[in-house]
Amino acid sequence: AKMNGVSHVVEYQSKLHDIFAKKIRLENDLQVALENHEFSLYYQPKVNIRLGTVNVEALIRWKHPQLGMISPAEFIPIAEETNVIDKIGTWVLQQACHDLRGLQKMGFTSLKMAVNLSARQFMDEHLETMVSDIFAEANVSPSSFVFEITETTVMKEPYEVIRILQKLKQKGITIAIDDFGVSYSSLNYLNRFPIDAVKIDRSFIRDLDENHKGAEIVEAIISLAHRLNLEVTAEGVETEEQVRFLLEKGCDEMQGYYFSQPVPLEQLPSVLNDLQSL
Ligand code: C2E
Ligand code: CA
Ligand code: CA
Ligand code: CA
Repeated sequence: AKMNGVSHVVEYQSKLHDIFAKKIRLENDLQVALENHEFSLYYQPKVNIRLGTVNVEALIRWKHPQLGMISPAEFIPIAEETNVIDKIGTWVLQQACHDLRGLQKMGFTSLKMAVNLSARQFMDEHLETMVSDIFAEANVSPSSFVFEITETTVMKEPYEVIRILQKLKQKGITIAIDDFGVSYSSLNYLNRFPIDAVKIDRSFIRDLDENHKGAEIVEAIISLAHRLNLEVTAEGVETEEQVRFLLEKGCDEMQGYYFSQPVPLEQLPSVLNDLQSL
């Protein structure tokens, strides 16, 4: 028992050691993951019930040869710290273009493809040329694409961000603010930045079930966004009650397990067909 304090410290240190060791391992393994074809894209539908249309968001998956599936929430931040994110970002856009072409050939001609851009990718001086080259090579229209960027990205260097957003918008790309409402400055940029849409963060949708205030906040976000001519997507929609509420309040698009989990490309056409006939 006398040793208890010491053994706690040792245990704590060894846990810390494990965390760092894993991070370093992932950092290393990320360097070769692309060449080894360990990444794939899953697609999650975004449903507009009123129009009867469905768009999709590309979500990256990493199947590590020993550790199995690793969440992008875990490895994207690590990739951001090194320059691997640039290569991953290029691959995601190329793959998404390729898959979009396939879907268009199957008849999903008006479907919009959303991809996530991390802060570092977004601020990369080569972004515009990279994006234009990939679209041209894949023969897809920029207007078929939505770029999702988070609030923290936008707030980093507002003036630089506005310049980049304007360039991307000129090409016809739709810009959506991801995880909207999470940062303290959410309302600060809504009228300052050239954006097209906001995605209400999942935490607000979850709160819909919890209390009255949750509902008031979501309703206020939707109506404010609409007054500013922004489209609204709700993420993390899981229940019928949430769907009813969001529909009633005029939310444009809904995304979440209620409609579909993210699925591999092979499964997407049948999921899209089911949802379009809702
Ligand atoms: P995000 O962009 O906010 O994506 C939404 C996340 O919520 C996804 O997790 C999705 O699978 C999950 N989700 C969707 N519907 C529901 C629901 O109804 N309930 C619950 N509980 N969860 C739901 P995922 O795929 O693990 O992605 C995590 C994050 O990783 C994404 O958050 C995004 O920030 C990032 N990410 C994913 N793919 C990429 C990518 O290609 N590039 C970059 N830079 N980041 C990516
Ligand atoms: Ca997203
Ligand atoms: Ca999101
Ligand atoms: Ca989120």
